[in-house]
Amino acid sequence: MIRIGFLAITFGIATLIYQGTDDSAKSTAGKSTDKTSEKSTDKTGEKSGDKKDIKLSHEQQIEEMFKNHPFIANPKGELRKSKDFNKLKGLEASVLNTKATERAFTGEYWNHKGQGTYICRKCNCPLYRSGDKFDSHCGWPSFDDEIPGTVTRIPDKDGQRVEIVCTNCGGHLGHVFLGEQFTLKNTRHCVNSKSILFVDEDEALPKIILPDEAKKRDAKEKEKADSLKKAGSDDKADEKKDDAKTGSSK
Ligand SMILES: [Zn+2]
Repeated sequence: MIRIGFLAITFGIATLIYQGTDDSAKSTAGKSTDKTSEKSTDKTGEKSGDKKDIKLSHEQQIEEMFKNHPFIANPKGELRKSKDFNKLKGLEASVLNTKATERAFTGEYWNHKGQGTYICRKCNCPLYRSGDKFDSHCGWPSFDDEIPGTVTRIPDKDGQRVEIVCTNCGGHLGHVFLGEQFTLKNTRHCVNSKSILFVDEDEALPKIILPDEAKKRDAKEKEKADSLKKAGSDDKADEKKDDAKTGSSK
């Protein structure tokens, strides 16, 4: 019995020693791998922390933004005003405000492949998803769909082409072409890189900057809601007074 016990203990110790050397061998042999795995764990930790901070995906952020700020239709694509719009530099201003076109294959996004959302450079309105971007080899960023409600189409006066503008601010984006058979949606939004700004899916989307018209509308609606609320509370107060009166007469 004692012998069996001794053997078992020796075996146990031998296994422990073997595991120990095995581990140390692994850790020396794969020092760099261990470091990388440590790093990647850290990184995932950080990443999940970042995601927690952002909380919502771009889709959810967009839904939230649009719920609070329904767009004012802009059928003529008029340029809207706000002193809060992002300041535009050189060609950005020429493209967005005076409908200039950047030269093909010169913009920063014609061959850009990141995952995220393209927003209006002037008012931050989310316009296009990276998932709708495709390679058309035309030298400008191409999308076969827009984020619903954010892009307005205006036929050119000569009837040749259809201009696209940001619905929120009226800034010029480019032109839309149909029936070219590039994708199943058969649509190509040909957009100037200078009109848009890419936001990576890991970053939070900036707030939309509303034009003066929308701010006025929101203020009016708030005023209306406030006066209704006030009227409601006045009625309730009156009811209470009446109740008190009837109570006293009883
Ligand atoms: Zn805009």
